[in-house]
Amino acid sequence: MDTMRLRNFVEQIWDGDIVPALTEYIRIPNKSPAFDPEWEAHGYMREAVKLMECWARDRLPHGATLEIVQLPGRTPLMLIEIPGASEDTVLLYGHLDKQPEMVGWADGTGPWTPVHVGDKLFGRGGADDGYAMFAALSAILALREQGVPHARCVILIEACEESGSPDLPFYVDHLAARIGEPSLVICLDSGCGDYDRLWLTTSLRGMAAGTLTVRVLEEGVHSGDASGVVPSSFRILCELVARLEDPHTGAIRPAELFVQIPPKRLEQAKDAAVILGASLHSKFPFAGSTRPVTGDLAELVLNRTWRPQLAVIGIDGLPAPQNAGNVMLPYTTARLSLRLPPTLPGAETGALLKRLLEDAPPYESEVTFSGGEAASGWNAPALSPWLEEAVARASEAWFDQPPAYMGEGGSIPFMAMLGEKFPTTQFVVTGVLGPHSNAHGPNEFLHIPTGKRVTMSVASIVADHFARPG
Ligand SMILES: [Zn+2]
Repeated sequence: MDTMRLRNFVEQIWDGDIVPALTEYIRIPNKSPAFDPEWEAHGYMREAVKLMECWARDRLPHGATLEIVQLPGRTPLMLIEIPGASEDTVLLYGHLDKQPEMVGWADGTGPWTPVHVGDKLFGRGGADDGYAMFAALSAILALREQGVPHARCVILIEACEESGSPDLPFYVDHLAARIGEPSLVICLDSGCGDYDRLWLTTSLRGMAAGTLTVRVLEEGVHSGDASGVVPSSFRILCELVARLEDPHTGAIRPAELFVQIPPKRLEQAKDAAVILGASLHSKFPFAGSTRPVTGDLAELVLNRTWRPQLAVIGIDGLPAPQNAGNVMLPYTTARLSLRLPPTLPGAETGALLKRLLEDAPPYESEVTFSGGEAASGWNAPALSPWLEEAVARASEAWFDQPPAYMGEGGSIPFMAMLGEKFPTTQFVVTGVLGPHSNAHGPNEFLHIPTGKRVTMSVASIVADHFARPG
C-alpha cells in the first residue's frame, strides 16, 4: 500500500465531498424515534437516508450494491455490500439517527445549524454518528483506488441507535444471509480519549432505566398546614434513591450490580489514566470550583467504564420555581438511568431495581418503579495478534503515536448483539467522540482531522485483515 497516496485520497474526499455532505446532513432534524414519535410523518429520517444514499450511489465501487431496507413499522436501514477478493466478511457499522436538540448551544450555532470553524464542524449528528457511513465507504474506496485487496465488506447503517436499537435485532435476522459471519466488525460510533492516537474501545457499559414515582397525597395542600404531618414525596424519593446510591460518594450500593473487573482492563485503565492525565476530568465543563468525585485518575477511568453509576435524568411533579406556591406536592417522579458494568446481564437488573425501590415504602406511601428498560454492555474479546499489530501500525502510520485502549462509559446495543451472535469475531470499536465533542449535549462537533485519520486507519486495518496469516 502506498501510504502517501492513501492519505491524499482520504484528505481529498473528506475536504471535497464528505464535509459538504455532512454540512447538509446536520441541517436535517432526523431525531431518533424515541425523541420524535412522529418521525415517519415528519419525513426527516427519509431525507437523511436519501442524502447518504445519493452520496454513496454516486461513488459505489464496481460490483457493489446499496439497498435501503425497511421492514413494516420500523426505521429504515442502509446496507452496502462490496464484493472483495475473498468471501470472508468485514462488517462496518454506524448510525444516522440523531439525539434531540438540548439547550446551551453557543450563539450563532445550533443543533441544525452547521458551522465549520477551523478543524471542527459543529452541529448535531456530524460526529455521532453521521460521519460513519462516509468514513466506512471512503476507506474501501481508498483501497480500491490503488488496487489493494480486501475481503468482502458490508456497511450497515441503522436509524434507531439513539433509541436503543429496538429495530436492529429484526434486521439482523432478516439480513442474516447477507451479513454473513463477519470475521471482523468495525464500529465507528465510539469515542477517543484524545485526538492524538487511535483509540480502541475495549468495553461498553450496559444500562437500566426506569421511572420512580412517590405519591403521598391525592392533591396538593397548603404547606403551612400539612408540613410536619404529611411526609414529603421529594424526601421519600431521595431516601429511596439512597437505597441505590450512596448520597455522599455516588457509589452504587447493591453488590449484585458490580462485576469482577478483568486484570487486563485494570492495567489498561491505569495506562489510559497516564496518557490522559487531568484531561480525564478537565474535559468536562465544570461550573465554578466543582471538582470530580475523586482525584485518583485510574479510579475515574474505572468508575466511568466498569462500575455501575446513576444519573437522575428527568423529574416531574414539581412546578418551575417562578410558579411555586407554598404547597406540599402530591407526588414526585424521577427518571433514573443506571449505567451497568460491561459484563453484567442487563435483563436481570430490572427486577432487582423494582424490588429495591418498591419494597417497604417509607410511611407506606405509594411507590412505583415503571417504564423499565435494560440492555447489556459489552467486553471486547482479546485481540488476535494480527489485529493488535494492524491497530498499532494504523495508529503509527496515521497519528504518529502508538494506539491506546480504554473502555467507554456509553452503550452501543449492536455490539452486545454481535458479540453474543459471533463469539469468535474480532472487533475494532473506535470513533471521533473525543474531548469536548459533546455528543448528546450542546455544541457537538466533529473533529475533521480525526475523522480523516480514523478513515485511513479503517482502510489499513481492512487491508491488513485480508493479508493476515492463516
Ligand atoms: Zn452514536
